[in-house]
Amino acid sequence: MRCPNCNGKDIGKIGTQNYYCWTCFIEMTVVNNELAVHQIEADGSLSSLNDLFSEDELRLQ
Ligand SMILES: [Zn+2]
Repeated sequence: MRCPNCNGKDIGKIGTQNYYCWTCFIEMTVVNNELAVHQIEADGSLSSLNDLFSEDELRLQ
């Protein structure tokens, strides 16, 4: 598994379906074999980054 944002492999598992990229600090959630990408804001809320990626990039290989 690689981070769709930085292509890094430094991915940590933080939940059953949740992963965290330690390189670019984004959270990834696996839903139906696709990634949902979120950025954690300073106030702790999540904002979606899915718009930045194509469907291909968010599909798990
Ligand atoms: Zn990353």
